[in-house]
Amino acid sequence: MNTLFSKFLLCCAVAGTIGGYSHINAQNSRTDKLQTYVLDNPYPVEKIVSPSGKKVKNVILMIGDGMSLMHIYSAWTANRGKLYIENAPVTGLSKTYCANKLITDSGAGGTALSSGVKTMYHSVGVDVEGNPIPSLISLAKDKGLSAGVAVTCRLWDATPADFCCHNIDRENEYEIVADYVNCRADYVVGGGGLKFVNRPDGRNIYKELEQKGYQIAKSWEECLKLKDGKIFAVTDSFDTPKPKDRGDRLAQSSLKGMNLLNKNDKGFFMMIEGSQLDDYGHFNDLEMLMQETLDFDRTIGEVFKWAAEDGETLIVITADHETGGLTLLGGDKEKGEIQCKFSTTSHSGVMVPVYAFGPGAENFTGIYENTAIFDKIKKLLNL
Ligand SMILES: [Zn+2]
Repeated sequence: MNTLFSKFLLCCAVAGTIGGYSHINAQNSRTDKLQTYVLDNPYPVEKIVSPSGKKVKNVILMIGDGMSLMHIYSAWTANRGKLYIENAPVTGLSKTYCANKLITDSGAGGTALSSGVKTMYHSVGVDVEGNPIPSLISLAKDKGLSAGVAVTCRLWDATPADFCCHNIDRENEYEIVADYVNCRADYVVGGGGLKFVNRPDGRNIYKELEQKGYQIAKSWEECLKLKDGKIFAVTDSFDTPKPKDRGDRLAQSSLKGMNLLNKNDKGFFMMIEGSQLDDYGHFNDLEMLMQETLDFDRTIGEVFKWAAEDGETLIVITADHETGGLTLLGGDKEKGEIQCKFSTTSHSGVMVPVYAFGPGAENFTGIYENTAIFDKIKKLLNL
């Protein structure tokens, strides 16, 4: 069992056992300690003009898991005062509380985005009674559009599961993995191979997905070879590697999905997640958190460039909640240096930003419930 996994288990144990107010007492050796990070290799950012005037044919929802304004401004400072996300002409604010807690988790927070319902903490794709609810993926499929998901985490983690699976408890990871067999998405890329085979129930989920017409890839290299049709790529046994090892894989897996789904003249819906921001927020690891945030921003840049070419694609970027209680306390944008503190190893309760780019972006200005993001996308895609 690798150290990252054991750290992750430790973090969940600490967060889970202390009850409703776990966020307040959740600490590790880095919490409340001033951390300094300097970005050695800043990247240039081009001006990308947001297209307008055409109809909305495609929508791409990008989720920075645990990403607040503080994360974005810290990354902006580190990258010498520039980010691709700033090319979004429209901003809004989203309220993230869930049905039974002020401070949500990714299960309830992501379900509000995927299905437009405030549900119970730790629930995935179900309502407060535990009934499965349709997501933007299934609604798009019902209308003949195409649909896809590209993430950097294990596919049984909350956010991808919120769009493809249904379970009252995100910890039922084997059940969640089995749910992908019926999710109908045309393109799925993420980690988590550990729970697709050698399962307690003896099922081989890859075999079942093949029977549903998917081409299976068990590595990123295998996925790159697949050029058409329904693709289900489980590229790693757990999460995908760190940004310095995986390179621009999130941007490439996103572009591959967009080009594939765009073959459908009726349009498509896609969810792209910068998943690991949340983990490093939980670990209070400023360096890794910034590396993941900047990788997500570079992915946003590639997606914006594609959408600017296409002209009929709306991009919505937001978060499901804030993680780590991050505070930017000092720094120098000329040197790309930031000084930050974390106040918790858990989530905190702050409205999260919403950025919109492309036709229909104007619908995302203002302050609203996280569920309204689902409502706006559903309306714009006529689902
Ligand atoms: Zn989290």
